[in-house]
Amino acid sequence: MYDKTLAEQSQALANGDISSVELTQSYLGRIKQLDQHYNCYISVTEDLALKQAAAADTRRANGEAGALTGIPLAYKDLFCTKGVRTSCGSKMLDNFIAPYESTVTQHFQDAGAVMLGKTNMDEFAMGSSNESSYYGVVKNPWDTTAIAGGSSGGSAACVAARLAAGAIGTDTGGSIRQPASHCGITGIKPTYGRVSRYGIVAYASSLDQAGPMAQTAEDAALMLNTMAGFDHRDSTAIDKTVPDYTATLNDSLEGLTIGLPKEYFTAGLDNRVARQIQQAVAEYEKLGATVKEISLPNNELSIAAYYVIAPAEASSNLSRFDGVRFGYRCDNPENLEDLYKRSRSEGFGEEVKRRILVGTYALSAGYYDAYYIKAQKIRRLIRDDFLNAFKECDIIMGPNAPTPAFNIGEKCDDPVAMYLSDIYTLSVNLAGLPGMSIPVGFADNRPVGLQIIGQHFDEARLLNTAHRFQQVTDWHLKAPATAALI
Ligand code: GLN
Repeated sequence: MYDKTLAEQSQALANGDISSVELTQSYLGRIKQLDQHYNCYISVTEDLALKQAAAADTRRANGEAGALTGIPLAYKDLFCTKGVRTSCGSKMLDNFIAPYESTVTQHFQDAGAVMLGKTNMDEFAMGSSNESSYYGVVKNPWDTTAIAGGSSGGSAACVAARLAAGAIGTDTGGSIRQPASHCGITGIKPTYGRVSRYGIVAYASSLDQAGPMAQTAEDAALMLNTMAGFDHRDSTAIDKTVPDYTATLNDSLEGLTIGLPKEYFTAGLDNRVARQIQQAVAEYEKLGATVKEISLPNNELSIAAYYVIAPAEASSNLSRFDGVRFGYRCDNPENLEDLYKRSRSEGFGEEVKRRILVGTYALSAGYYDAYYIKAQKIRRLIRDDFLNAFKECDIIMGPNAPTPAFNIGEKCDDPVAMYLSDIYTLSVNLAGLPGMSIPVGFADNRPVGLQIIGQHFDEARLLNTAHRFQQVTDWHLKAPATAALI
């Protein structure tokens, strides 16, 4: 059953072909055998999962089941889950047991979903490769010498390796789309404000957004139905009706105008990736879409603007981890200053410290105008570029990353090279737009994803666009050979 999509599993549960306890046990068995090769999970919550599965079966027997009742899912380890460790991939929170539940995971609980465990991630969601976790690198199930992509690498890899029916991640500058792309799965970052951030450990609050990661657009739609919605506990959650994202999946694409930004298809883009994107776009033309060149003139400034704004917000958000109120505390501090200094020096990894330093610098008196204010002005220009482009097209397509998954270790010593791999994803977060990745082929043995960018609150259209493609292709059904071991 692990090779089936979430929607198919939901149907099998409804038909009584399998129980949630059986399904959950089969995933737990696979995780035990296979996760040592990938390192997708930081914590596996076996007892809780079996208890939730039994409750789901009872609920179904009482005729109260919904689409996600009994479905085994995995949560990125920055969603607070009451009574369960929520580490954020950091030594700082290695001992943190969340005292409350995030809104998103509460929604899944209310729907009767089963939590298999918490997935590996770049420390505090900072990274593009999932190499900065305190719990070790996540390996790409298609090729374990390759990165899985970050920061939601554990969530992407566990779906690719069929170690969960679906997973959730967060995307601040590409962390759902990039690992989805590198692992050959489907992931959507909704519009900023569409999904509540309450109970998600904050990285950069004006950019963070949670979304589903699954095999198919249909699966993602089922999950987003449960995740999206207003929440009075998140002041940036938007009070707007949530459509049924599955209702429009089959709508025709006749007359859809696809914009291809000319700035995306330049020398910086790997030829093999470009080829797969072009083939996917050609498939869309067959489905009735028309293609148009558009321009996003300020896209190249997105890296500079993002890598000021995100660290600035992170430096503020992460100030709470001081060894007093939260997190790791050093041994035998000599005095208060020593306690702060050593707890933070020992608790945070290198990349997190780099971001805190950059962010603190950018916000300090004298530099604030030169860096932070300037970055905010560029952010507005980037947003305006998209709004202008959407006067000419309905959706925008392009790559998620300039290359297929690179080798583990390749960019670790060069933070700027790592940041440059975010060139196609950051601007979408800066503009608050929804973006999605779907698998559209391979470069050698490594998956390539197509990015689909929509207008604010256009998730239904993105999912529809993705679903129609998946009706006529089978990239989304391919699984790495190792996933079939048991
Ligand atoms: N790679 C980007 C960063 O390191 C984005 C990460 C994310 O989306 N969480 O900040």
